[in-house]
Amino acid sequence: MNLPDRVTEPREEAPKARDLAGLDAAVSRCYACPRLVDWREEVGRVRRRSFAADDYWARAVPGFGPADASLLLVGLAPAAHGGNRTGRMFTGDRSGDVLVAALHELGLASQPTSVSRDDGLRLHGVRFTAPVHCAPPDNRPTTGERDTCRPWLMRELALLRPTVRAVVALGAFGWQAVLPVLDASGWIVPRPRPVFGHGARAVLEPAGEGRALTLFGCYHVSQQNTFTGRLTPAMLREVLAAAWASAGGG
Ligand code: SF4
Repeated sequence: MNLPDRVTEPREEAPKARDLAGLDAAVSRCYACPRLVDWREEVGRVRRRSFAADDYWARAVPGFGPADASLLLVGLAPAAHGGNRTGRMFTGDRSGDVLVAALHELGLASQPTSVSRDDGLRLHGVRFTAPVHCAPPDNRPTTGERDTCRPWLMRELALLRPTVRAVVALGAFGWQAVLPVLDASGWIVPRPRPVFGHGARAVLEPAGEGRALTLFGCYHVSQQNTFTGRLTPAMLREVLAAAWASAGGG
């Protein structure tokens, strides 16, 4: 895949990715959303005092995990001083700490921490991604930005289709964003549309060939949720274990 230095049309570029490595490389060159490009770069210039010595990634952050994952975790967007700093989803912030610790307890991560791109973390059978690949101001992407970014998620699901059996949406934004993508990627979304909630679950039958996929809802691993106890480690573990079992793992 010959990649341009700057991708500005995900709709044209995403379908060209032949594998997840190519897709991830293309995502990291994306400049399609001017507001998010400005923000991710400004955060990288200004920096948080505690990370002043760090060389921020300050680009789009691709998904992370094996190309034959059977479980896909869909968050919201990279954190300004987490993924936008380290260049890897759920890495270098409290959200990543909580999520990776839970995955490690279930045997799905090689280590309990996620601190940098070169920390040696390996995921087993599970992949992280997000419907928006750039850190947004206030963690709030616009619907237009979500839609501009959608072709990346569409292609990711298409490439994972042979193996993926379960998706966990971390938060309502991820749930709303992934439903139309699943619908367009060969699974039948029940009507009325399933509603997000912690512990919600919906079985999506294949539209043609293939196998069913189960969508799980889980509160996001944001600091706001984990600090307040809205999402406890036990609650997170329970959803991830159920999703992993549904994906054929547990
Ligand atoms: S949010 Fe998505 S579409 Fe927008 S610049 Fe980032 S990677 Fe590209």
